[in-house]
Amino acid sequence: MSIMVPSRTPALITPGRQALDSALHQLDQAAEHLGLDHGLRTVLATPRRSLTVSVPVRREDGRLDVVQGFRVQHNVSRGPAKGGIRFHPGTDIHEVTALAMWMTWKCALVGIPYGGAKGGVAVDPAGLTTRELERLTRRYVNEILPLIGPEKDIPAPDVGTDEQTMAWIMDTYSVSAGYSVPGVVTGKPMTLGGSLGRSGATSRGVQIATLAALGRSPEGVTVAVQGFGKVGALAAQYLADAGCKVVAVSDITGAVYARGGLDIAGLRTWAAERGGVHGYRHADAMPLDDLLELDVDVLVPAALEGAITEANAPRIRARLIVEGANGPTTPEADEILAANGTVVVPDILANAGGVIVSYLEWVQNMQAYSWSSGEVELKLRDLMESAFSEVKSLAAARGLTLRQAAHVIGVGRVAEAHQMRGLYP
Ligand code: GLU
Repeated sequence: MSIMVPSRTPALITPGRQALDSALHQLDQAAEHLGLDHGLRTVLATPRRSLTVSVPVRREDGRLDVVQGFRVQHNVSRGPAKGGIRFHPGTDIHEVTALAMWMTWKCALVGIPYGGAKGGVAVDPAGLTTRELERLTRRYVNEILPLIGPEKDIPAPDVGTDEQTMAWIMDTYSVSAGYSVPGVVTGKPMTLGGSLGRSGATSRGVQIATLAALGRSPEGVTVAVQGFGKVGALAAQYLADAGCKVVAVSDITGAVYARGGLDIAGLRTWAAERGGVHGYRHADAMPLDDLLELDVDVLVPAALEGAITEANAPRIRARLIVEGANGPTTPEADEILAANGTVVVPDILANAGGVIVSYLEWVQNMQAYSWSSGEVELKLRDLMESAFSEVKSLAAARGLTLRQAAHVIGVGRVAEAHQMRGLYP
């Protein structure tokens, strides 16, 4: 019997395919280190369930468009599947599979009882009206309805989706169930059972990971942040609040630089009002690509996959990279960075704050109870800091990079769960 493992030599290399190749490469390295057998490696390299759907959307002018949607459950051995839903024109089944795989290792690494999943719709949400977006979301959820549920698979926000999207998902699922099911989705508005601290959780986690990796006072540490969206803008804010000097940020509209440090609160207001950082008056404009290569202490890639590649890695001057995005660094770039002595706090650790507080939200929903922001923050900090020190110790003990160590821990825990459960039938 032959088992299908995603091929490494695709006919067409899309960014999604590159992301999946990176994820498979990282898995391979961890499996090798752990000495996993071929069968188990194959199980871990393949998604457990993968659904592609066609989503018809009625446009305001009466036209009917059809877009592709996906939901991938990579692994459910340690608990229900968990992971965000992305609305982005470039998303495809390969990207969603890679992101689901990273969710599996991320949840295992930080010790929360979930498997990994991801969803996506290949659409540009900025090109739709709010009503079109609502129709699209509800129809997509309807198509993936058999897969999701508070005990099965719990979506959350990701690129291009937000609290409003989660509210529509919660409503669509609840209408179909016949009663309110807040635990079907996390990252909800507070009025529908959201958790205090969830909206800034990924960014707070990035701040915690950065300070832990710095291991010294953040006062005056210079930072550049690529991406000024849900994760990047608040990460910049929290790092500035901690005493760092955030000198540059970028988004799709442009990049801005201020040698003495940006006023992040002012920039967030500017970006919210004008749709991006472009034109911000109290800073200099800078070519987008230059941001990654700035002479700063810390670089936070908080946009999309594949930002740091073999093409720009040799020119990166930051000594510390903290990955707010999923998969921003390719394996080829990783090797160059490691050879240059650049420390990379990997995505599955650095951006785990989001799913940690998602877990806390879900636990609150399942108990119909809510915690104070202090309690949530304490639990987040505790889980982030223990995961960080586990990764750091393993890396030091075995001579691994932080990414390799994080994968060895995450993959190792999932492999152990498989071995303990055994194979049915
Ligand atoms: N989309 C976020 C991530 O990639 C959060 C996922 C979640 O909260 O389930 O980690």
